[in-house]
Amino acid sequence: MTHTLGASHDGEGDAKDCKAEDLFIMSPIKEGPSSERPYSRNPWLFSNCSVEAFKVTLRNKICLKSPGSYFDQEEYAKYTSKQPGEMFTVDEQCELIHGSKSSVCEIALAKYGSIDS
Ligand SMILES: [Zn+2]
Repeated sequence: MTHTLGASHDGEGDAKDCKAEDLFIMSPIKEGPSSERPYSRNPWLFSNCSVEAFKVTLRNKICLKSPGSYFDQEEYAKYTSKQPGEMFTVDEQCELIHGSKSSVCEIALAKYGSIDS
C-alpha cells in the first residue's frame, strides 16, 4: 500500500536521502532486536522521504476527498476514535513488533523511562 502511495524503500530511488539503517517502516532491512539495539528503532514511523512521497501523491488524488458509496461511518469511527496505545497493551505492542510471546522488557524500561502515565 505504501508503494501505491508513491513511497520508495528508504535508501533507494526517490528515498535515497533517507537511510535504510534507520529502520523506518519503508526500510528494506528487516532486523530484529539485538543486544546492542534492544528495539527496532522506528517500526511504527515513516521516514521523511516516505511522508514527502505521500504528500506528492495525495495532492493529485482527488478521489480520496470523496468518501464514496462504501464508506461506513461506524467502522471508520471504530478505528479513529482511539489511539493505538489505547487499543493495545504494551505487551500486545511488543508482540506486534517482535512476535508472539514477546513482552515489554523491564530492564529496558528502567533504562529508557517509564511507560506509566
Ligand atoms: Zn516494498
